[in-house]
Amino acid sequence: MDFCGIFTDVRGSAVNIYIALAGLIITVVIAVIIKNQWVGRVTLYELIKGLWVTQSTALSPKATIQFPEENLPVSPRFRGLLALRRYPNGEERCIGCKLCEATCPALAITIETAPRDDGSRRTTRFDIDMFKCINCGLCEQSCPVDSIVLTPEQHYTVNDRGLNILTKDKLLKIGEITEDRLAKDRANIHKGDG
Ligand code: SF4
Ligand code: SF4
Repeated sequence: MDFCGIFTDVRGSAVNIYIALAGLIITVVIAVIIKNQWVGRVTLYELIKGLWVTQSTALSPKATIQFPEENLPVSPRFRGLLALRRYPNGEERCIGCKLCEATCPALAITIETAPRDDGSRRTTRFDIDMFKCINCGLCEQSCPVDSIVLTPEQHYTVNDRGLNILTKDKLLKIGEITEDRLAKDRANIHKGDG
């Protein structure tokens, strides 16, 4: 059609409208497919992705251990079962200063002292109530002679009335059993490796 010198193709305009409509419909359909994650479902993308994760870890080193035969490494600073240490000559380190008793926020420590025949002061009673202890480590930090310590031992239970009280004898015995590890850990901590 010639309209004031401008040629207008009516058929061409109709085709353009159809193309625009078709493009709009296709866009809407794609948007709906993406919104409902149909692509992943139809192409099994999620399943393949999951299988890939399984296969990629199948040959990597095992992340599990056979507890209790195997144990994970324990930090030298781990705060486990309490103990009292001795010097290498067998003398008990504790001098009965009661700093640990005073600093314990749970009031778990009970100490009584008396002078020995040689005039030095030693404890006659050193009880720690495991039910009260929160393994905070403040007693260890306050001790001037590195006597009271928290060992790396974490596998212990109390299964009878009264066994929650760790007496001086028990604490010293725990210290004797764990002394090798305690000495090594403390050497590493003082070196700055712990
Ligand atoms: S670890 Fe903390 S709560 Fe336990 S006896 Fe020492 S200071 Fe008290
Ligand atoms: S364990 Fe240490 S802080 Fe506690 S009474 Fe003995 S020397 Fe003092």
